[in-house]
Amino acid sequence: MGRSLTGLAVLAMAAVLTACGRQEEKPPPPKQEKKLNVVTTVAPITSIVENVGGDKIQLKGIIPEGINSHTFEPVPSDVKVLAAADLLIVNGLDLEIPTLKLAEANLKQGAAVLRLGDKTITEKDYIYDFSFPKDHGHPNPHLWLSPEHAMRYATLVRDELIRLDPANKAAYEANAAALLKQLEALDQAIEDSIKTIPEANRRLLTYHDSWPYFARRYGFQIIGAVQPSDFSDPSPREVKRLIDQIRKEKVPAVFGSEVFPSPVLEQIAREGKTRYIDKLRDDELPGKPGDPQHSYTGLMVENMTLMFEALGGSAEALKKVDPAPVAGAHADYRRRD
Ligand SMILES: [Zn+2]
Repeated sequence: MGRSLTGLAVLAMAAVLTACGRQEEKPPPPKQEKKLNVVTTVAPITSIVENVGGDKIQLKGIIPEGINSHTFEPVPSDVKVLAAADLLIVNGLDLEIPTLKLAEANLKQGAAVLRLGDKTITEKDYIYDFSFPKDHGHPNPHLWLSPEHAMRYATLVRDELIRLDPANKAAYEANAAALLKQLEALDQAIEDSIKTIPEANRRLLTYHDSWPYFARRYGFQIIGAVQPSDFSDPSPREVKRLIDQIRKEKVPAVFGSEVFPSPVLEQIAREGKTRYIDKLRDDELPGKPGDPQHSYTGLMVENMTLMFEALGGSAEALKKVDPAPVAGAHADYRRRD
């Protein structure tokens, strides 16, 4: 008896629930479109993601342009930015260890992390060198300065955005295709320009050691980098060795970087009787957000123009490359100023 009463009660409740369920089947109110929240690190990667994501994503780069990305430590307020992210995209290859640590502790459940560099080359292609010695265990992370790797980054970003936000697949595919076309034009213009540089001049001595993957792709020889692995200045003995080498090999120019102003490299250039170009950039985009050159491609065109002209070549072919973000400017870049 008691049993069947309970049974009836359950049936009655089920009926109520069904009724409620039906009530809620009215068309839902138009819901606010919530964009995928993407967080990136260095500006060239932010730019690649901006090109592919266009206005379909919300995008913020957390490493300010023009600061040393290799020693960057996130600030406490970055916890909030990371905690809100659906997707964190980093270069990887140990470039952003402190940021990844903070992310691990604060990313929300289900958030994804995409390490572009780690998915682009395998260990056998890692380059270790003066600034990134093998015994420290961290390979040179500057893959993006070779456009072939930037193309791979673009396709990885495209595929991950589609995976997390399939509703906007068509837009991501179209944007990525346009970006890849731009990067192919850039790659071709670099190859064409290099042919105008006397072969003996296709050698690089730089302050910050960002060009080994570029050199491997385009047949440059890295004759040295000045900055030791702890980002200090080189020893007097190393300075003397570099000056002797420049004199002996008649290097036409040495290259400093915007982020690392270097009186030591200036001295090396002066005593080695060669030109000193102090404006190469590895992660600070030229211009400001909204400018057509404020992009990954703009960064490469500017670097290549400085480099090739100083080495006795022409940068004419690079002038034809349109650097503007293919889907417009949408990212929130952090700026030093
Ligand atoms: Zn760097």
